[in-house]
Order: sequence, then C-alpha cells, then structure tokens
Amino acid sequence: MPRMHRDRVTKTPRERRHGRIRLTVQIMAAAVMNGYAAGFLRGKIYTGKSKAVCVPVLNCYSCPGALGSCPIGSMQAVAGGGKHKFSFYVLGTLMLFGTVLGRLLCGFLCPFGLIQDLLYRIPLPKLSMPKAADRLLRYLKYAVLVLLVLLLPVLAVNRFGIGDPWFCKYVCPAGTLEGGIPLILRNEQLKNLADTLFSWKLGILAAVMTGAVFISRCFCRYLCPLGAFYALFNRFALYQMHVSEQACIGCGKCEQVCPMAVDVTKHINGTECIRCGKCKAACPTQAITSGFLRQPNQQKGTNHGTES
Ligand code: SF4
Ligand code: SF4
Repeated sequence: MPRMHRDRVTKTPRERRHGRIRLTVQIMAAAVMNGYAAGFLRGKIYTGKSKAVCVPVLNCYSCPGALGSCPIGSMQAVAGGGKHKFSFYVLGTLMLFGTVLGRLLCGFLCPFGLIQDLLYRIPLPKLSMPKAADRLLRYLKYAVLVLLVLLLPVLAVNRFGIGDPWFCKYVCPAGTLEGGIPLILRNEQLKNLADTLFSWKLGILAAVMTGAVFISRCFCRYLCPLGAFYALFNRFALYQMHVSEQACIGCGKCEQVCPMAVDVTKHINGTECIRCGKCKAACPTQAITSGFLRQPNQQKGTNHGTES
C-alpha cells in the first residue's frame, strides 16, 4: 500500500540557493519557449518561422505562446502523415540533446516539469509508492513512447492512410494545459467544438495534476515519452554526476530530497535521475559532484553511480 508522509521542510542555505537558481532557470526557459504573449490574448497560436524548430522538451505546439514545436508532437505528425515518413530531424535533435545533457533537460528546462514541481510544493502529506509498484510503473513511459508515439500513428490509419497523433490527441496533459485550455478560453469557435474527447483530456490532466501534488514528478516518472527517450542517454551523456565513496557518510539526505526516488549513492547515473541537483545541494559532505566529461571527485573516491 502507498504510505503518506510529511515532506522534509528544513533546508540549508545551500539548498535554498540551489532551489532559487533552478526555479529561475525553469521559469526563464518556460517564458522563452512560450514568449508569444499576444497569442494568449487573441486565443490563436503563433505560426511564424521559428515554429519549424523543435524545442528539446515537452512544450505544446498549440500553446498560444509557443515559439517552437514540441518534438513528440512533430514526430507523430510526420509519422502519421500520408507518406509515413520518419522525422530524422526530430530524432537527430533529440539525440544531440540527449547525448550532451541527458535528463538535465527534464530537471531544468521542461515547463511541464516546472508545473509538477510547483504542485508538489503544496503543503499536503506526500505519498511513498511501494518500491515494486513504483519500479513497474516506471516502465509505462517506455510503452507510451513505443506504442502511442512511434507505432500507432503509423499503424492505425484512416482510409486516406493518415494516422492520429495518439499521444497528443488522447493523453498529453501538457497539451491540454498549455494549448487546449487557453485556446478554448479565448476562442469562441473552439469553445463550441469542445467535445467528449476534450472532457477525457481534462480528466487525464486533472488526474496527473492531482498525482503531482502527492507524488513528486509523477508524470515524468511514469508517463512522459520524452523522459523515456532521454532516460536512455543518461548513462552515456556528457553531463554526468558522481558520488565519492570516501566522502559519503551514508546519512541518506540525498535520497530524502530526490524528487525521482533515485537510489542516489548507487544509481545516480541511471535512467531516472533528472539531474535536478537537489541531492548535490543537500549533501552535508559535498560528496556529490557533477560536470561534463570529468569525474571531479575521483581523486577523493570512487565513482559508483553507473547502474540504472
Ligand atoms: S539523484 Fe539527485 S540530481 Fe538526480 S533526480 Fe535525484 S536529487 Fe535530482
Ligand atoms: S547526502 Fe551525501 S553523505 Fe549523505 S548519503 Fe547522500 S551522498 Fe552520502
């Protein structure tokens, strides 16, 4: 059974400083990617040239402020089109970002990640998932990626040979929040078109947002297809984290603060770490370090964060 608990609230100055910096980066990234303010007022999406460029995180194409395209949406749109092409441009972009940063993108740049982080700050008791269920549910996001993003748009087609963007159309809560709701609020025509499907999507959004209040980053952990994609790169990405065996005193503070419930001292470079840096800020002995292509604390100890 899931257990309710109170989240640790006392933070050190180092943790507070890190929290402020990360929040600022997250807000700035969301604002830059959705900087077309006029779109929110008019209830219309931006259609300028920058829309041909993919952003590296989940950010709905139909958000009235979006200046770029969502990679997951683009991939489905190309795959589901009449010619069922594969978008090498999108795949290449994602692989490049994954190879350099891994899931740092989830921890610092994703607007839907920011929304979940803010929801988790609501001071209500938090839920600890039983380990077995948590481990099983984490595989769901890979099923979402393979089935809803890659296969169904190509295989389930109409009589014209065109497939639906299954993830965007039937699941994506970020799309409902950033695109569907603002457009419907400002656009009378669209308001009249809101149907059962939109109600279904609202239900999914409500479930995910409620979940995020009690389970940190629940969408990233269990459902996000882009998180699943970047997870595959974490172990090999240029950006890596390290735990010094000699400096670590086994106090467990890193694991208490980790929003992804990572076994920090053993699997910090595994698939689930979103590189948020909270463990690094909380560690009293500064045993955790991070950086590009280097293992900063190897002189002091061994890097043992290589398993997923
Ligand atoms: S292991 Fe550290 S950096 Fe990774 S998600 Fe957990 S707290 Fe964030
Ligand atoms: S917080 Fe630092 S010292 Fe404590 S267990 Fe984690 S890595 Fe080790």
